[in-house]
Amino acid sequence: MTSRPPQHYSPAPDLLKDRVILVTGAGDGIGRAAAIAFAAHGATVILLGKTVARLEATYDAIEKAGNPQPAIYPLDLRGATLADYQSLRETIEHEFGRLDGLLHNAGILGQRKAIEDTSENDWRDVLQVNVTSNFLMTKALLPLLKQSEDARIVFTSSGVGRKGRAYWGAYAVSKFATEGLMQVLADELGSISTVRTNCINPGPTNTHMRRSAYPGEIPTTNPEPVQIMSAYLYLMGPDSTGVNGESFDAQWR
Ligand code: NDP
Repeated sequence: MTSRPPQHYSPAPDLLKDRVILVTGAGDGIGRAAAIAFAAHGATVILLGKTVARLEATYDAIEKAGNPQPAIYPLDLRGATLADYQSLRETIEHEFGRLDGLLHNAGILGQRKAIEDTSENDWRDVLQVNVTSNFLMTKALLPLLKQSEDARIVFTSSGVGRKGRAYWGAYAVSKFATEGLMQVLADELGSISTVRTNCINPGPTNTHMRRSAYPGEIPTTNPEPVQIMSAYLYLMGPDSTGVNGESFDAQWR
C-alpha cells in the first residue's frame, strides 16, 4: 500500500530551520530541486554527488537565494566503500556537529534490457549505486542521525520497485531492494530512536533520467522537479513525526 502527503500540504517557511540535511545526487534533477527546497525552508544542506561543477551550480543557486550556506561533498557512489562513508561521517561531525536528515536520491537507470541480456557489470553498477550505497551510507551515518531530536531518512523508490515490469532489469530490482531496506530499518529504528524512515516514489518527472528512459515522450508532459517538492518537505520535516516505514507517492495524478 502506498501513502501520499496531505494533498494541499503547505510547509511552514521555517520548516527545516537549524536542521542539517544531506542530499545525494544534489547536482541535477530531483536532488537539485530538493536541496534548494530544503535550504529555502531553513536547512543547511550538504550537497553530495559525482560531478563537482553540477554541485557548484546548486551551491550557487542556494547562495544567490540568500539561504543558509550549503556544503559540497563530491563522492562517486559507484566505487565508494564503507571507509569513504566513515570519512563522510567524520567530516559532518567535525563541520556541523549533527545530522538531522538524509535523502538517498542519487540513482542510475542502467541498461533497459531483458534480464537475459543484462550484463554482469551493469547489474553490479546499478545495484551498487542505487541500493548498496544507501546501505553503506546509512550504516555509517546512523550514529549521528540517532543523536538528532527528530531525524529523517528518505529513500527513493519507483513504480517499478513495487511491481516488476519487463526490461526494467537491475533498476527495478534495485528499487524493490530499496523498499525492503527502508522497511527493515523503519522496524528496527521506530521504537528505539527518533529516526523516521520512509520511501518516496517521485513519479514521472522531467529530468535527465526520465528523458533517457522515454526518449519518445514529450518532456513537458511530466512535472518539473520543483513541482513535486511538497512531498519531500513533508517527509523531511516535523510534520511527518508519526510516519514511519511507509512508501509515498510524490504525485497525486
Ligand atoms: P537524474 O539522472 O536527473 O539525476 C541523478 C543524480 O544522481 C545526479 O545528480 C547524478 O550526479 C547522481 N548520481 C548518479 N550516479 C552517481 C554516482 N555514481 N555517484 C554520485 N552521484 C551519482 O535523475 P532523477 O533526478 O530523475 O532521479 C532521482 C531519483 O529519483 C533516482 O533515484 C531515480 O531512480 C528516482 N526516480 C526518478 C523518476 C523520474 O521520472 N525522474 C521516477 C521514479 C524514480 P551527476 O550529475 O554528477 O552524474
